[in-house]
Order: sequence, then C-alpha cells, then structure tokens
Amino acid sequence: MAARMIDGKAVAAAARERVEVDVAAFVAEHGRSPGLATVLVGEDPASEVYVRSKRRLSEEVGMRSIHHGIDASISEADLLGLVAELNADDGVDGILVQLPLPAHIDEDAVVAAIDPAKDVDGLTPVNAGRLAHGDPNLVPCTPRGVMELLAHEGVALEGAEAVVVGRSKLVGVPVARLLLLANATVTTCHSRTRDLDEVCRRADVLVAAVGVPRLLGADAVKPGAVVIDVGVNRLEEGLVGDVDYEPAAEVASAITPVPGGVGPMTIAMLLSNTLQAARQRAGAG
Ligand code: NAP
Repeated sequence: MAARMIDGKAVAAAARERVEVDVAAFVAEHGRSPGLATVLVGEDPASEVYVRSKRRLSEEVGMRSIHHGIDASISEADLLGLVAELNADDGVDGILVQLPLPAHIDEDAVVAAIDPAKDVDGLTPVNAGRLAHGDPNLVPCTPRGVMELLAHEGVALEGAEAVVVGRSKLVGVPVARLLLLANATVTTCHSRTRDLDEVCRRADVLVAAVGVPRLLGADAVKPGAVVIDVGVNRLEEGLVGDVDYEPAAEVASAITPVPGGVGPMTIAMLLSNTLQAARQRAGAG
C-alpha cells in the first residue's frame, strides 16, 4: 500500500486565507488590525527563521507585527518587564515569546507571566489547565495543527486507537488531550516506554513528537494507519522527521511529510489563535 501524502502546505495555505478574510472583517468592525508581538531573545538561527516566518505571514494576512529582538544577555527581570509592557499594551492581542530562552532565564516563569488572554501559544498554566479540564480556549499551535490535518483528512477519531509518542508540554501532552476530547482511545509513549514499536502498532492514528530522526519505521505502523510526524530534525542531508517516511508510507494509509506536513500548520494556527485572541479581547467571542 502506498500512503496518501497529507499536504500540510496546502491545508495551511487554505487556513491562512480564511484568517485573512476574517482579519479584514475584524478591521472593518473595530478599525484596527489584530497585533501579534514576537519576542526573540538571542540569535539561535532556527528560532530566527521561525520568527521571521511568523512575522511575514502575520503581515500577509493583515495583522500588525510588533517585534522585539533582544540580546541574549537580557536579565530575567528585564524580560519579565517587557512581557508586562506587552500585556498592558492595548494594541497587542497576541504575545509570542520564542522558545528556547537562554539558560539563565526561567522559561516557565516567563511563559506564566504572559496574560492568558494574549497567550497565542497556549502554553500558560491557565490555558494548559483549561485544556486539561476539557474547556480549551487558546490551544497550542502545533497540536491544533495536528487536529486540523486529521479533520481535513476526514479521519474518524471517535473510538479510534491513537498513540502519541512524546509527552512534552508543547506537543505530546496537548495533542493527547485533544485526541481524548475527540473521543479517541489515547496512549502516550515516552523515553521509558517498553516495546515502543509494538505499542505504536496498535494505532489507527500515530502521532510522533519526539525529536529523534526516523525513530519510527514500518514496524511501528499498523497497516492502514494515519501517521502524523511532528518531528523536525536537522541532519546534513536536510530536515527529516521522527518517522522513516518511505518504509512507513508503504504501510500507512496517509502520512505527513517533513518538511511540508505539520510545520506549516503551526504558523497558520498561530495566526488563527491571534485572531481568536483579538476577537475575544474585543468582546466578540
Ligand atoms: P521534547 O520536549 O524534547 O520532547 C520529546 C519527547 O519525546 C519527550 O517526551 C521524550 O520522553 C520523548 N522521547 C525522546 N526519546 C524517545 C525515544 N527514544 N522513544 C520514545 N520517546 C522518546 O520535544 P518537543 O518540543 O515535544 O518536540 C518534539 C519534536 O517535534 C522535535 O523534533 C521538534 O523539533 C518538533 N516540533 C515541531 C514543530 C512543528 O511545528 N512542526 C513544533 C514543535 C516541535 P521523556 O519525556 O521520557 O524524556
């Protein structure tokens, strides 16, 4: 069986077009553009690329991009001060602090300082807690992107066996929670899981969010499964996922490529979250 390739680029482009239409309606109603503030500390090349794309695409859909590029030597207190300023700025609807932060800064403290109403990454304890309680509001972008791809592909989640590999706050845990809210039967795997391939082979829907190049091959895929590869691993040959694409695609019914799968969805969902935050702050739900 040769799997269908899930075209994240196309799904993301369509999602961005919908946001663009809704941003125009927001501007017409409120006389201002939704504002997305990006904060980049230091000069990590991958983070610079991500933030540049986020800024460019937010402007393309008609949002206002407010950028703070900051020297890596900034103190935690000064960074918390900047977050407080952005919280208080009425023209800022979404605040994105690009992670990772330099080692001398407590990442959790900075994320927790973001106003939950402007937390377009969905990572504050308030928004993570709402998701955990089954009352999601602003949901982390990559997990939301995974769910959008599954919805776009018409994957029936109710009663399905879903296996998520990875349990980070950023991806694994929120993806598992969203799948559970969609009534899948969810198993979460991690570095201590025994017989990883065997557990993965139960999955009708397999989500890999690990950060180990090509960890999961054909032996980890149930025939006909839908495979979503969140992994982005930089090798000399280029970007590769956590799934060994070619052999896995022989067994799966549908699979995301890396690049061009989940990655583009993450930014599209960030734009959608920013619009959602702007509407909620404007009292329009
Ligand atoms: P992370 O915080 O490093 O978490 C990785 C998870 O994988 C951990 O839960 C870890 O288990 C588990 N793990 C590590 N080695 C394993 C193994 N051999 N077998 C089973 N589980 C293992 O990473 P993350 O932030 O969730 O990101 C995961 C991947 O997704 C990375 O490649 C990242 O670049 C990518 N990513 C992509 C996007 C996108 O937009 N496409 C967005 C975010 C992240 P323990 O908890 O036991 O340590």
